[in-house]
Amino acid sequence: LTYLDNAATTPPYPEVLARMHEVMMDGWGNPSSPHVVGRRAKEMLEESRATIADVLGVDADEIYFTSGSTESNNLAIRGACLAQRENPGKIITSTLEHSSVTRTVRGMRRDLDWDCRYVDAPDGCFDMEQLAEQLQDGPTSLISVMRVQNETGWIFPVPEIAQLRDELAPGVPLHCDATQAFCKMPVNPREWGVQLLTAGAHKIGGPRGIGILYVQRGLPMHTTAFGGNQERGLRSGTEPVFLAVGMAEAVRITAAHMETDMEYAASLRERAIEGLKREIPDAVVHAPEGGSPYILSVSVPGLPNAVSVKYLSGRRVCVSRASACEENHTAVAPGTWRPKHPLALQAAGIPLREGKETLRASFFHRNTPEDVDRFVAVLAQCAREMRES
Ligand code: PLP
Repeated sequence: LTYLDNAATTPPYPEVLARMHEVMMDGWGNPSSPHVVGRRAKEMLEESRATIADVLGVDADEIYFTSGSTESNNLAIRGACLAQRENPGKIITSTLEHSSVTRTVRGMRRDLDWDCRYVDAPDGCFDMEQLAEQLQDGPTSLISVMRVQNETGWIFPVPEIAQLRDELAPGVPLHCDATQAFCKMPVNPREWGVQLLTAGAHKIGGPRGIGILYVQRGLPMHTTAFGGNQERGLRSGTEPVFLAVGMAEAVRITAAHMETDMEYAASLRERAIEGLKREIPDAVVHAPEGGSPYILSVSVPGLPNAVSVKYLSGRRVCVSRASACEENHTAVAPGTWRPKHPLALQAAGIPLREGKETLRASFFHRNTPEDVDRFVAVLAQCAREMRES
């Protein structure tokens, strides 16, 4: 199997599975229980929180466990805005966010008539002038901008956005969806000037179903899940300790060799680009300098991605069209596929036709150069067969 869809999810580390199994057997207590079984579970939960906080350079009590990045993004946006309900300002976000941000923002407009504004990022360049204009146009409740764009790998200038916020609208919270950056490149909310930050476990060899939201201490937040007041009242629900331990273990393993992994991923990506240039000279690589080394977005003229992804899959090479979750928005009509809400690749300046021919290959440190060569060879074979037919 050649698995190059690591931006969708990664195979779990064996160590993660082993730790989770141990915890399910011996640490299954409810962390809220006052007895010895509960206390043991609580201890493991707090150790996991501390490990994750350490990697982000923040304090453990600023980390809240959630069910994953989607929930963290929902909670960040709704929680921070609803806390300002008495005095609402606008939400500013980019046109290229993951649907868990975009749809939450849209929901705020639909359900609560919240003012929502979008900043363009043509060719992946976040428009700082537009942001400046928006910030100067009345009060703002929240800015939400991702670090690594999940379809193209573009890196958005989150620290610079924070600086501009400090100059023009000090005190406005900035949320960053760092799902595709966490443990893959330096992520430091305090240095960046970010008050809310989203990360998940399963993009780094951890389990699905768990993530975190970093909330800077003292930031007013409204809860969106009421119940037993777990996670200091922000996110009720009995904590899945085995998942938290699994996330912490994946963080520990991945963060330990982040720098070398980044270099290695860059070499795989470079190898793929070289191979594509050689084998499919008219392929268009959406690869601006300085993008994430883990994501490669490429269009092959005349080769619809619906065809190429299926062809590759038939030969046990796994890549995706855009992002995996966008596949769920497919059902416009049977057999048709509409790239993202509303056409993220187009919002990024990629023409519609090219968007429908775009593939995403995404790497993890366990991929090999042979994986990359196989991807290039099978894609080239697919292009040849399509063009000859
Ligand atoms: N944000 C980004 C940038 C992502 O890439 C993803 C998943 O692909 C998510 C959020 C949502 O993650 P999950 O489906 O694990 O909640």
